[in-house]
Amino acid sequence: MNKIFFLGECMVELRAIDDNTMEQSFAGDVYNSAVYLQRCFPGIKAGMVTAVGTDALSEKMIQKFHHESLDTTFVFQHKDKVPGLYLIKTDAVGERSFTYWRSDAAARYLMDFLSDDVAGLFKTGDALFISGISLAVITPAARSALWSLLEQLKSRGVTLIFDPNYRARLWSSTDEAITAFQRAFQLADIALPGVEDLEVLFGISNAEAAIEYCQSFGIREIVVKNGPESVLTYANGQLQKHPITPVTKVVDTTSAGDAFNGVYLGARIQNRSISDAVQLAATAAGTVIQHPGAIAPAAAFRAAMVTAGI
Ligand code: ADP
Repeated sequence: MNKIFFLGECMVELRAIDDNTMEQSFAGDVYNSAVYLQRCFPGIKAGMVTAVGTDALSEKMIQKFHHESLDTTFVFQHKDKVPGLYLIKTDAVGERSFTYWRSDAAARYLMDFLSDDVAGLFKTGDALFISGISLAVITPAARSALWSLLEQLKSRGVTLIFDPNYRARLWSSTDEAITAFQRAFQLADIALPGVEDLEVLFGISNAEAAIEYCQSFGIREIVVKNGPESVLTYANGQLQKHPITPVTKVVDTTSAGDAFNGVYLGARIQNRSISDAVQLAATAAGTVIQHPGAIAPAAAFRAAMVTAGI
């Protein structure tokens, strides 16, 4: 059976419930995608490629990976570092703000663990997903090792998937991000950009231009997300526009794109058509944004996806 791996950072999430209480969970773009894929498609093996620490929260995070049935072959434990952490605060009018403690997180040192021997465990036909956030969190000193790994995996027949999630504060300059993203586009077999991310870095403000931009790198399957607007795809010489039904009661848009990515990729691995995959992915994203936080409750999520025909 082929596997799909998600490379990047999973963080400890703290949410202030009131002045004296915090609720703790785990989240991070690639982790969110892996969870939603695995929940919808138990027949596929999804795994994390990340580094955590040996502290109590890292142990709890690994337990959570197991609880979500994620493969942990490539989850490493750094002996001196701990996971990144962020706090969500919601003000009196419901506006959310985030504070991060992630500048020395264990995941930044992931490349220390990905030796050639470890890389050799990836098989032809496996897939590896990276996001713009994955690229940003790997220490700049280790990025050349990441590019070598990706090139090596691609040459061995591993499918590379890229979502250029852009978080300005994680980069020292826009030029640094542009260079890294262009290199990732060059390697990608499948790209799942959001228009918003491309707009800031490349001045691309609509889905058609996003498709054209990705085509210039020879990417074979391109899926452009644009919030509640339609999704535009390109593959096998065919451009398709997929309508999205806007959700009227949006609670929290965190991880809409992540849920979309995970479910789209799972559906495609199971040989669903591009239109079916987009519709399932849009249902997943539309469900997730009706719940607070990155990870929607499993039962409600599953019920919506069963109704949608997974
Ligand atoms: P990101 O979270 O990466 O910024 P988008 O905002 O483009 O991604 O949203 C990803 C997907 O989530 C969209 O393609 C769409 O399927 C779904 N989505 C986002 N906002 C809405 C909405 N208001 N109503 C319905 N679906 C939405």
